[in-house]
Amino acid sequence: MAQYRITEIEDYDSFVGTETIERIRQKAANLKGLRVANFNSTYYGGGVAETISSLTLLMNSLGLRTEWRVIQGTPDFFSITKKMHNALQGGEIDLSKIKREIFEQVIYENSVRNFLDHDFIMVHDPQPLPLIEHYEKKCPWLWRCHLDLSRPDAETWKYLRHWIDNYDAVILSCREFAQEMNPPQRVMMPAIDPFTIKNRQLSDREINERLSRYEIPTDLPLVVQVSRFDPWKDPKGVVDAFKLARKQIDARLVLLGNFATDDPEGEEIFHSLCASRDERILILTSGDDTALVNALQTRAAVVLQKSLREGFGLTVAEAMWKATPVIGGNVGGIRYQIEDGVNGFLVSSVDETAERMVEVINDGELRDEMGRKAHETVRKNFLLTRYLEQYLDLFGAL
Ligand code: UDP
Repeated sequence: MAQYRITEIEDYDSFVGTETIERIRQKAANLKGLRVANFNSTYYGGGVAETISSLTLLMNSLGLRTEWRVIQGTPDFFSITKKMHNALQGGEIDLSKIKREIFEQVIYENSVRNFLDHDFIMVHDPQPLPLIEHYEKKCPWLWRCHLDLSRPDAETWKYLRHWIDNYDAVILSCREFAQEMNPPQRVMMPAIDPFTIKNRQLSDREINERLSRYEIPTDLPLVVQVSRFDPWKDPKGVVDAFKLARKQIDARLVLLGNFATDDPEGEEIFHSLCASRDERILILTSGDDTALVNALQTRAAVVLQKSLREGFGLTVAEAMWKATPVIGGNVGGIRYQIEDGVNGFLVSSVDETAERMVEVINDGELRDEMGRKAHETVRKNFLLTRYLEQYLDLFGAL
């Protein structure tokens, strides 16, 4: 029979040291048997599913009984919640009565199907927020908001506060996202799992095999952005910046994206980008092949994450872990991941992105040095052990 295994805390020893492992093991021992339920709205596609997947397994390996439940919804439900997501990041929305009814009804139906008898309920992002209304509250409920809340639409915020104010604590990714609300607010930045196929070290042969499988030539330096096809990731800005940079350097752009089940905007954005395809601009949709994501992030001369809003860019940490310099939008969580000019670059415009691209591609020494520092930044600050320990501390405190 096959030998199945999941990552154990000891596996992190070579990255974070025995002392940290021992401390985490102690904290987890005090919480042994704790029943935690996580709710979000998609099994894959996007950073939230990615972190819940790894974190729930690691918590279970430490003796907590941590579950993951994904709410079900109709296409119009996800169209409404994506609009809310956009509005919370500063976009516009017409929150009509019928939209509110659909949103609230779907969550009510989910509550009918989910029986809860837990010690902690963790609700991720706005989609499942109203669940709290439908249960007799017997334990702490946490709202974990992964969005960039620096400029939320006032009407949407007011509407959602109706539920937010009933939570016992709210977790945000940056202190700048703090808002007026009743629950205490905590800041915790997400982190990556170094043992997944996406993040573990691949051999040159494996990388070449993946890239050739998707017919991605490697004769020129690769500029890569890996993102859902979402306006906040500014894929059009990436293409424009690349076209400007190409006046000075020869390189190839790979924009790799996927579609999350709770994000109906992706198809349209993908199709509008396809018009820019040429022999130097590859727009690909095989983003569910996580070995391909790894191969691209590892082999790239530079990775872009030109976001206009970003709670925290997992893609930024993933590329930095592979010692690849990242040029990231000077927004939200990315500001805490990249130290401008040290382990990557922060940019605020298409022109600046193009300039930095040229600089990084022309200077191999700069690339190596930034890459080394980027890897070390992730080792110290953005591995899952740090995030896990913050959760254990929070559970302990509540
Ligand atoms: N991702 C992927 N394939 C794609 C696009 C994205 O596997 O084509 C992954 C990416 O590697 C990262 C997550 O989806 O793990 C995106 O997380 P991030 O925090 O960067 O952005 P979000 O989508 O949550 O806004």
